Amino acid sequence: MTSCEKLRVAIIGQSSFAGEVYKLLRKDGHTVVGVFTVPDQGAREDPVATTAAADGVPVFKFKSWRKKGVALPEVLEQYKSVNAELNVLPFCSQFIPMEVINAPRHQSICYHPSLLPRHRGASSINWTLMCGDKKAGFSIFWADDGLDTGPILLQKECSVDPDETVDTLYNKFMYPEGIKSMAEAVNMVSAGTAPRVPQTEEGATYDPFLNKKELVRLDTERPAEDIHNFIRGLDSSPGAWIMMDGKETKLYGSKRFSGSKPTGTEVAIEGCDRPGVICSHGLVITGSDGKMVSVARLSVEGKFVQAAKYGQVEETRERLELTAEETAVAEDLRKTWADILKIDVSDETDFFVAGAGSMDVVRLLEEVKMKSGVELQNEDVFMASKFDDFVQTVVFVARGGSLKPEFTYDAIKMHVNNMDISFPHQIFINNEFTESSTGRQITSINPADESPICDVARSSPSDVDRAVRAAHEAFTEGEWGKMNARDRGALMFKLADLMDQHKEELATIESIDSGAVYTLALKTHVGMSIDTWRYFAGWCDKIQGKTIPINNARPNRNLTITKREPIGVCGLVTPWNYPLMMLSWKMAACLAAGNTVVIKPAQVSPLTALKFAELAVRAGFPPGVINVVPGSGGECGQAIADHPLVRKLGFTGSTEIGKVIMKSCAESNLKKASLELGGKSPLVIFADCDMDKAVRMGMSSVFFNKGENCIAAGRLFIEESIYDEYLRRIVEEIGKMTIGDPLDRSTQHGPQNHLAHLEKLLEYVDIGVKEGARLVVGGKRVDRPGLYMEPTVLADVEDHMFIAKEESFGPIMVVSKFAEGDVEGVILPPLYSAVTWRVWSVVPMTRVRPGLWRVYARCEPAPCTSRIGSTPAPASSTPTTRRTWPPPSVASNSPDSERTSGEEALNEYLKTKTITFEY
Ligand code: NAP
Repeated sequence: MTSCEKLRVAIIGQSSFAGEVYKLLRKDGHTVVGVFTVPDQGAREDPVATTAAADGVPVFKFKSWRKKGVALPEVLEQYKSVNAELNVLPFCSQFIPMEVINAPRHQSICYHPSLLPRHRGASSINWTLMCGDKKAGFSIFWADDGLDTGPILLQKECSVDPDETVDTLYNKFMYPEGIKSMAEAVNMVSAGTAPRVPQTEEGATYDPFLNKKELVRLDTERPAEDIHNFIRGLDSSPGAWIMMDGKETKLYGSKRFSGSKPTGTEVAIEGCDRPGVICSHGLVITGSDGKMVSVARLSVEGKFVQAAKYGQVEETRERLELTAEETAVAEDLRKTWADILKIDVSDETDFFVAGAGSMDVVRLLEEVKMKSGVELQNEDVFMASKFDDFVQTVVFVARGGSLKPEFTYDAIKMHVNNMDISFPHQIFINNEFTESSTGRQITSINPADESPICDVARSSPSDVDRAVRAAHEAFTEGEWGKMNARDRGALMFKLADLMDQHKEELATIESIDSGAVYTLALKTHVGMSIDTWRYFAGWCDKIQGKTIPINNARPNRNLTITKREPIGVCGLVTPWNYPLMMLSWKMAACLAAGNTVVIKPAQVSPLTALKFAELAVRAGFPPGVINVVPGSGGECGQAIADHPLVRKLGFTGSTEIGKVIMKSCAESNLKKASLELGGKSPLVIFADCDMDKAVRMGMSSVFFNKGENCIAAGRLFIEESIYDEYLRRIVEEIGKMTIGDPLDRSTQHGPQNHLAHLEKLLEYVDIGVKEGARLVVGGKRVDRPGLYMEPTVLADVEDHMFIAKEESFGPIMVVSKFAEGDVEGVILPPLYSAVTWRVWSVVPMTRVRPGLWRVYARCEPAPCTSRIGSTPAPASSTPTTRRTWPPPSVASNSPDSERTSGEEALNEYLKTKTITFEY
């Protein structure tokens, strides 16, 4: 504060705002010589009066200062008795005569909640929002005759969020900054530094006082944007209203709503031929331009209700019997209410009927938090405005209850694997499950017996467009984009916890939908997915840039920094072999980086992705952050790759489709693409291996998850002297495998994922045999219902054969012999360039052979269309299932590959922004 004379100040105004200004002025050493406020309303005294009276400062409560434009002499006399040097008018709702305004030595300064000359008049803050202004703020001006035209002393502005309401704007800026600035202005006056900048008439508006009911009635024959602005501009006071179903209904919590018209119950809105829709988003109103807004809360003839629940039989929470401790809390709450309302509070007292305003709600919430640790939202007070209901709400939440409306969807319910399971079967957009725009469906089949599980909605390109737009809005305007990185991480941890709680259900769904053996699904498909979510949740608040030394631009200096930022809407397209794990590997990194996502799971195994979406809602992910569009690759996957609002595409699948996708990404909008493709990894077994270990490794490398494994050993190279023994041992082990129902805990080998795949595997064996490979064991469909393939071994395979080069993606071991000691021959061209090595594996040996390091040094990923070196371990970019090799530096050398784990995976979903400051 500048050194200045302390002033004798009269405060003319009302509300807790005036009360806080009063306190600050006294703290700054000024003397408040009198407080002039409105008379008590019933027993309720204005807060500034209470605060001042407690300090013994004279308080005057005038109903009016003038009559027929003439100042009342007795009022003037009382005012003059305090002998003020400056009048300070924070939130003054009365007309103050010019004799008073001009009486003090320094005259009068007045707070006005708009950027004058815009929005003169008493409802300026409402009009700021109703007009859709992008900037709001307040002015402190030299008071005039009440028309808000006096010279400006000080102005402060802030940006306006698209969903800002009067309450949020007031709480975040107008109130805290306004109080400080009033004190600052008084100090400027006393220091003689307060300017008087005349207001221009340019851009000036005088907006009507919204004190008449007809002025706040919503005209629904307006574009949706105007409707949204009108509702939020009056939220929460005085509240916009419509006649809905013949009842006067006030509207609160407006949001712009994108996507196609939601399904729900239609309600008639007077004066509008487009009915409103009650759905899980609340009340959706369509504007004259066909765009929509959703309204979260209604006050129907004075009774608050969640809009989503309007018209439903009211769910009454069971009445809670309070413990002695809770009764004490209730009595404390009663005292809080009485302090705020300045009346005796009975169980029937209604907070708002008793005269509470929005600042009283803020104070109540703060006091409740301080006294009971319970955090409520403004709307919780609206929903429980009677004292008794409010107590019940506080106790309910204190006991761990949730006030959020229950999330429901059209669930498929089954009793299977000795448990009840339920899962969605519709498209998931904006946290809602809906039918496809075409009504088309795809039947999901259980490969264990080929029985239908359910019909799943088949997304069309227009559904994809809807999903992408929802994701775009969530990224650019939704809560997700504004969320702290740590909160984002907390949400992801919560989701992982929920997946953990539902892991048996998820593994069962995965098993019936993809044929995964249940025990494996529990540990791998689901278990590793959960690990992945936890791993990436921890990354959220550790994404950071660098400071970079660059040459200074003398005489100035430079500071260059980089920021790591999310890319935007990301499309993900995944295969059917590990449906939930493929989703998790990509999506966890993608969301940790702060992007939003539209995922197309494989059409043959979409169910865990949909169950996952349900859990994401329950974890609290905001609408639009995650969208799931089940459907066919050629139609719905292609639409994602082509979409101009999608900025990045993460794909896992075949090399062939990968090429198509990369081209589409380039042609549509040059979107960033990362591809995890097919491949054929070698497993090299040397004669001095530990044979038991080598057999175990060969079996798991080929037959794990019935061979539907992206890092499966596509070829085995066995050193000549142990070749026959190795094959004999493998056949022996295959004979011990239990083939059967994947839900049976003893089963080791389940059905292949779908019929077309099984048929391709049988054809693959035929081709191999025709080309001269020796069928050692298997090769046929198992003689039982379901899509079972015998574990198969094809030996004596030579480099030129189809099966030596092409991936089977099934339980087929493809074995070749190599000459004793011919380490280099194993990897020499043309074999080297003919296949796409993904992971090199070498069975642990009794000693490290001389020359072997040379092999690994040469083992650069070949002309590679495949991911090399990504891994099933969430934290690592090195292949861990393959024990030792190759070292990471060798492994991660592919030019067009994708990392799906570790920090490297995160980088796939981030962009780097470089910023240089000159100072
Ligand atoms: P795919 O036929 O390439 O299908 C993968 C995904 O792409 C499916 O969701 C598919 O939809 C979709 N798709 C098809 N055509 C498309 C198009 N034009 N535009 C956009 N998306 C399209 O592969 P798959 O048979 O499901 O999976 C097996 C392959 O995945 C194997 O080659 C395997 O090696 C590879 N894979 C690789 C890894 C790795 O980490 N590198 C991991 C797992 C699997 P539909 O549902 O209609 O088929």
